[in-house]
Amino acid sequence: MPEGDTIHFAARRIRPLVEGRIPEIEHPHPRLRGERWAEKLAGRAVTGVDAHGKHLFLRFEGDFAIHSHLRMTGSWGTYRRGERWRRGTHRAWLVLRTDAGEVVQFDGPVLELLTESRTRFDRRLAQLGPDVLAPQLDEAGFLRRLRADDPARAIGDALLDQRTIAGIGNVWKCEGCFAAQIDPWRPTGACSDDEALAIVRALRPGMAQSALDGMQDRHRRVYARAGRPCPRCGAPIRSRGQGEDNRITYWCAECQS
Ligand SMILES: [Zn+2]
Repeated sequence: MPEGDTIHFAARRIRPLVEGRIPEIEHPHPRLRGERWAEKLAGRAVTGVDAHGKHLFLRFEGDFAIHSHLRMTGSWGTYRRGERWRRGTHRAWLVLRTDAGEVVQFDGPVLELLTESRTRFDRRLAQLGPDVLAPQLDEAGFLRRLRADDPARAIGDALLDQRTIAGIGNVWKCEGCFAAQIDPWRPTGACSDDEALAIVRALRPGMAQSALDGMQDRHRRVYARAGRPCPRCGAPIRSRGQGEDNRITYWCAECQS
């Protein structure tokens, strides 16, 4: 599943193609049939492209915003005009075309046109925790939200809750716990504030780099490496499903406690 760094990276690629420009808009997917976005957004320039956690917003003049969440399947493509797309045209939900290029949203699945005021009052969006990739992380806000959660919940699972901190997914949860040498199975009630912050501080530089270059893989030291030696102590990396969604968690039982 795309995590916050992937979404920030998409925003970074999309921005120069549409910001300050009036795009031609098509939404060919049947799920958006009859939505008339081209009509509603006709003549309106894109004023900004921003990400909060795993959510991406394309903001338009006149109080409009397109909101996207990729969940497990979606993706954003950016192309020169006429360049071949990496996914089939039938998978395109949204196409924005300007003189600078084409921005294509593939496979949805959350794609909606909202008013700016609705984005502020939308429950799902209003409940989001601080963005892990904010230039200045709201550490106090993160800790307050973490402490309001169930103290018996494992820290690895708690970090995936987008109401506590927005943008961390399963890869960065594993890597952050590894870097801070904290067992992802430890209950949050047994993690000090310093320990919880150490995880988030440890993963932010890698996430920020990946948000710039899109190369998340090079930051993986335990994720998807079950059975291979821990890069720190050599013990085999372990894996097991965690939380309600049974997300496969990777960790070293020797040097994370
Ligand atoms: Zn180890």
